[in-house]
Amino acid sequence: MEHLNVPPDNHVMVLDNQGWVGLIDHLGNETTIVNAARVSFGKLKKEMDDRDVGLLEYLIANKHTSPLEHLVFTFSIHCPLFVRGQWHRHRTWSYNEISRRYTEIDLEFYTPPALRRQAENNRQASVADADFDDRGLREKIAAHNQTSFALYNELLEAGVCREQARGVLPQNMMVTFWGTVDLSNLLHFLELRDSEHAQWEIREYACAIKKLIKPYIPHVAAYFEKQGQIW
Ligand SMILES: Cc1cc2nc3c(=O)[nH]c(=O)nc-3n(C[C@H](O)[C@H](O)[C@H](O)COP(=O)(O)OP(=O)(O)OC[C@H]3O[C@@H](n4cnc5c(N)ncnc54)[C@H](O)[C@@H]3O)c2cc1C
Repeated sequence: MEHLNVPPDNHVMVLDNQGWVGLIDHLGNETTIVNAARVSFGKLKKEMDDRDVGLLEYLIANKHTSPLEHLVFTFSIHCPLFVRGQWHRHRTWSYNEISRRYTEIDLEFYTPPALRRQAENNRQASVADADFDDRGLREKIAAHNQTSFALYNELLEAGVCREQARGVLPQNMMVTFWGTVDLSNLLHFLELRDSEHAQWEIREYACAIKKLIKPYIPHVAAYFEKQGQIW
C-alpha cells in the first residue's frame, strides 16, 4: 500500500519544497464542456473545432458556468494547517484528510523560507522586504515547532489520547488532504487565491494548480491568458 504523505507522480512542489499539490484524477475534458452546453440542442461531438473554442470562451465570458461543472479534478494537497484553514472555506470542494486521531507518524512542520513585514495600511496584507534580517527569527520558529512536537510526544508517552495531545501542535504543522472540485468552482478558487489580496502561501498552491490543469484545459487557460492572467 502506498503512503498518502508523499507527492503523487503528477505534482508541483511549493513553499520552498516543503509543500506540494498533485493531480490525482480528473473527469472530462474541454469537449465535455461544449457538449454539456449543447445538451439543450441534443447534439454531441467527439472533438473540438474552432467554433467550439468560441463557444467555450462565450460560456466563460458570460458566466454560463453549469457546463464547466461537468469537468472535475481531484488533488492531493500537502500544506500548513493555516493554509488548510483558508482552503476549507471553499465549500464547493469535497475534502478528506489524514486524521491525527489515527496516526502520529510523519509529522512535519513548515518553516517559512522568508519572513514578511506587516503591511502598514492593510491589516490582512504583508510586505516582502529583502533587507529584513530574519534568520534568527526563522531559527526560533523552527525551534518552537520542535518544542511543540516534543510536548506532543511527551503527552502521548504519558498515555494522553492523540485527539487531545494534537492540541499543542502549531499552525505550522503540515497536513495532507484530498480535494475534489468542478472546473467552475475551481476557476472561482483560482480567481480568489491567485490574487495579490491572498496570502502568499495559499497563492503558491493556486499557481501550482494552474500548471497542473493547463494541459487538460488549454483553451480555457489561453482565454484567461488573453485577459492578462498568468497560467
Ligand atoms: C483575500 C481573502 C481574504 C479573506 N478574509 C476573510 C476573513 O477575514 N474572514 C473570513 O471569515 N473569511 C475570509 N475569507 C474567506 C471568504 O469569505 C470565503 O469564505 C472564501 O473565499 C470562500 O469563497 P466562496 O464562499 O465564494 O467559495 P465557495 O464556498 O467555494 O462557494 C462558491 C460560491 O458558491 C456560492 N455558495 C456557496 N455556499 C453558499 C451558501 N451557503 N449560500 C449561498 N451561496 C453559496 C457562492 O456564490 C460562492 O461564491 C477571505 C478570502 C479571501 C480570498
